[in-house]
Amino acid sequence: MAVDSPLQSRMSSPTTSEKDVKALKFIEEMTRNPDSVQEKVLGEILSRNSDTEYLKRFGLNGSTDRKTFKKRVPVVTYEDLKPEIQRISNGDRSPILSSHPITEFLTSSGTSAGERKLMPTIEEDLDRRQLLYSLLMPVMNLYVPGLDKGKGLYFLFVKSESKTSGGLPARPVLTSYYKSDHFKRRPYDPYNVYTSPNEAILCADSSQSMYAQMLCGLLMRHDVSRLGAVFASGLLRAISFLQTNWKELARDISTGTLSSRIFDPAIKHRMSKILTKPDQELAEFLIGVCSQENWEGIITKIWPNTKYLDVIVTGAMAQYIPMLEYYSGGLPMACTMYASSESYFGINLKPMCKPSEVSYTIMPNMAYFEFLPHNHDGDGAAEASLDETTLVELADVEVGKEYELVITTYAGLCRYRVGDILRVTGFHNSAPQFKFIRRKNVLLSIESDKTDEAELQKAVENASRLLADQGTRVIEYTSYADTKTIPGHYVIYWELLGRDQTNAIPSDEVMAKCCLEMEESLNSVYRQSRVADKSIGPLEIRVVKNGTFEELMDYAISRGASINQYKVPRCVSFTPIMELLDSRVVSTHFSTSLPHWSPERRR
Ligand code: AMP
Repeated sequence: MAVDSPLQSRMSSPTTSEKDVKALKFIEEMTRNPDSVQEKVLGEILSRNSDTEYLKRFGLNGSTDRKTFKKRVPVVTYEDLKPEIQRISNGDRSPILSSHPITEFLTSSGTSAGERKLMPTIEEDLDRRQLLYSLLMPVMNLYVPGLDKGKGLYFLFVKSESKTSGGLPARPVLTSYYKSDHFKRRPYDPYNVYTSPNEAILCADSSQSMYAQMLCGLLMRHDVSRLGAVFASGLLRAISFLQTNWKELARDISTGTLSSRIFDPAIKHRMSKILTKPDQELAEFLIGVCSQENWEGIITKIWPNTKYLDVIVTGAMAQYIPMLEYYSGGLPMACTMYASSESYFGINLKPMCKPSEVSYTIMPNMAYFEFLPHNHDGDGAAEASLDETTLVELADVEVGKEYELVITTYAGLCRYRVGDILRVTGFHNSAPQFKFIRRKNVLLSIESDKTDEAELQKAVENASRLLADQGTRVIEYTSYADTKTIPGHYVIYWELLGRDQTNAIPSDEVMAKCCLEMEESLNSVYRQSRVADKSIGPLEIRVVKNGTFEELMDYAISRGASINQYKVPRCVSFTPIMELLDSRVVSTHFSTSLPHWSPERRR
């Protein structure tokens, strides 16, 4: 006899709404037999795309079965698909990857040659994304009652967008979603009422947008039942914004007038309907709370009815958990979904669990998923032996094992390596659940930026050329993502060697130039975060005493590292190592200006 899943037993509760029951039933349906859903999804993708140049190239001849597909179509990376992507972006409208027209490119935070990757997408993908969103509140309602009575204070932003030379929009997936009618004209749903008006979310000037969203959140502080942003870094930026702007916000509230820093006509118009009269009591409350030195628990002080933080704290975002705990007085943090520009993947069926226990259930209707067993010896170790039997089906992954995610999408990515490493933690019905382990090859990340070892190396090389005139060289380096202050910033430790074998440090002016040169050399996501979003602070170089890196090696060896295989870690986070490095710092230097960035891609 089939055992009821936890979702199923709660579905039959009389308090669960009809809409929620429908969504939960859908989850049950998708997870009971993921293999047959996957077979159907692949069949649909291959039959509709059978005439594409890409599938024809591999002689699929209209076959839609998994066996032929896996045998003939190779596993690829973005670099492999670049020529096709380039042609589409240049305006070639023939069916290259997809039989349905590519409507826009989603600019991933993953980069290629320093620029954001361009992910093709088709019109109907918006429906798929919306479908996944529609499952989130029904699951949440199983764990947190009464969410229809309150509002969500979500800090949501659009980013600047550009057009490819062929005229297709290129923008991040969330910008595309918030600007779509799916979002803008969403029907009223008591479980999805936000304090932020669309006009504020859709304003491309992040400072005006944040100001208006924060002001609305403050005005409606007693209605707020959940508070969030997409990623933890975004929520902390909002807190930091409040720290710097509470006086001005309190003034607006006490006078009932909007600050002149808001000049976007749509926001001004909308705010005139929300900020209608002075509220001296609220202004005084805010001044009282915010003027205190200690901001511990500030979130619950200002928004006392908040039941949880809705924010992703898995993967690179885990570094922000302690700070969020501090500001929220330990509110639960719900990581609800796992998604990317390539495709949305899945949801967390136990959103109120601890961050360390978060697992995502991949929804098998979103795309066709395969799993490349991950070899700990090296990211590319499995590559040499890639054949049709190497990759595992969604339904066949094994608990405890790690895999790299490979997807085939309706928009035409075929057997595409996403670059995420996932570990199977268990099953919901027959659908596996995955813990996000890490992104392959990412060394440093403050928010959506992802800097890899090669990029860091290049940046150090470029910057160290500025020292050549002085006869000084960088002999060793490592790095650290410092998120103790908001915004976080990159710290690069340099050990220098001068012409005379000392570490004579160049002037602060030269070192500041080195900092900037490193920033100029980093990818466009980093530079956009620095320049447009201001979500990353100036890069810092800390020069350490001569011999520090040797001490670092001694330390590693004392802890069991092999002297033959020792490699300088290019990124550090382990406290004793940080303490060692910091105790040897002889000077610190910051970038004094901003690197270049524009929405247009470098050609
Ligand atoms: P993007 O390419 O900018 O769309 O970013 C997508 C990537 O963000 C994914 O491939 C993951 O590496 C990361 N990501 C998305 N959702 C989560 C999550 N819930 N937990 C951890 N990492 C995530």
